[in-house]
Amino acid sequence: MDISLLSKHISSCSLLLLFRHGLLFDITMFLRLTPLLSGGVYMIELISNFKWIIPNDLADFDPTLVTRIQEVVIPYFSAEDRLIWKASTDGYFTAKQAYQLMFPAVAVSAWSFHWHNYVPPSHSFVVWRCLHDQMPTDENLQRRGCTVVSVCVLCMQQSETTAHLFLLCPFAQELWNWLGDLFNVHFDITSFLSLFDSCVPSWSSQLRHITLAAIIHTFHKIWMARNLIRFNSASIILQAAKMKIRTTIATSSSSAGGHTSGSMEEKAVLQRRHVPPRLMNAPAIMMVLWQTPIFSWVKANTDGSLINNSAACGALFRDHTANFLGGFTSKLSFKSVLHAELMSIIFAMDLAHNKGWSKLWIESDSQVALGAFKDIEVVPWNLRNRWGNCLSLDLNIYYSHIYREGNTCADKLASLVHSGQHFTWFNNIPVCIKDEFFKG
Ligand SMILES: [Zn+2]
Repeated sequence: MDISLLSKHISSCSLLLLFRHGLLFDITMFLRLTPLLSGGVYMIELISNFKWIIPNDLADFDPTLVTRIQEVVIPYFSAEDRLIWKASTDGYFTAKQAYQLMFPAVAVSAWSFHWHNYVPPSHSFVVWRCLHDQMPTDENLQRRGCTVVSVCVLCMQQSETTAHLFLLCPFAQELWNWLGDLFNVHFDITSFLSLFDSCVPSWSSQLRHITLAAIIHTFHKIWMARNLIRFNSASIILQAAKMKIRTTIATSSSSAGGHTSGSMEEKAVLQRRHVPPRLMNAPAIMMVLWQTPIFSWVKANTDGSLINNSAACGALFRDHTANFLGGFTSKLSFKSVLHAELMSIIFAMDLAHNKGWSKLWIESDSQVALGAFKDIEVVPWNLRNRWGNCLSLDLNIYYSHIYREGNTCADKLASLVHSGQHFTWFNNIPVCIKDEFFKG
């Protein structure tokens, strides 16, 4: 958006109010507004007593635009207008943000599985080249213009392609089946990525590391076997290849980090590999207690929830006798945990103010969200007006953190609405939180 365009056509800085909230980031939106504005309509004139007053002709002109305007929260406080970089949470522009916008990060996948400090880089390099189709197999050499008669020296049955050599060759298949038996898993050799994805996500970190090391070592062994036959005229015995893979797995096992879950199934797999299970230290036990507020104070336990790209929030209010005063749950259009956590606090402050609970203790399991009370920069730019408005309310606020084990009622309320309505207020304790509520 060219700022000079704005200053040329519109002299009122009030337009920046919209600009700040992203409404005028869209040049087409700006051009559609211009005819109205050049006729003398300034956006500041559409605000009265902190409410939007939209003239009928503007509503007739573009109802969608009016809806978007009304979504903008008018701040009760004065603040400097500033430009917002919409792609960032805090609204500030950085070169990093711009780069990420132009080149979005590739989702984490098996591609990041092959560099580990417990696997020699030369072994990982074979996997990396396979994933990038850069192995000097006959197939790739022919593609680069080399004239070679292609045959897989491991089976002498097929031409040598990368996929055949490492996945489909009977020699490779025998190794993958053998490895699958060792780790009690079926390796999907449809593709390189599916091979890595065969690792069970629920495995403990120790077993996961050892399995990944085993896969990488097997890639390396197949390549070494192929080279020995092709260049040294050696004869490779499958059993010898397995022994070498076992040795390298044992070496990696001793240096791989992680812990096992201690389940019998994992222990059996590790014992078959002669790897001692590395158990986690016994967890430190901490008492998590919910405390009542003092007399005349109301306590709100808040929580946000993000499940399968659906965001929601909830909270419940209790008095000094732990009596249930009410609660709410609400679906949100924002798709981030921080937004959900902050919205639960914003709703709680708004509702407390409307109900005349002027002394409000807010308790959340999100340290980050609570940090917004100290530093407004924590609040995403598109919630700052709402947050600032809540702080302008005549509320006496005290806030504290509680571990989620002590915040289960709010957690359940937040999760309740994912498939339901936008906002629900409860005068009585919802059935779904009754058990947790009376546990104290
Ligand atoms: Zn073959």
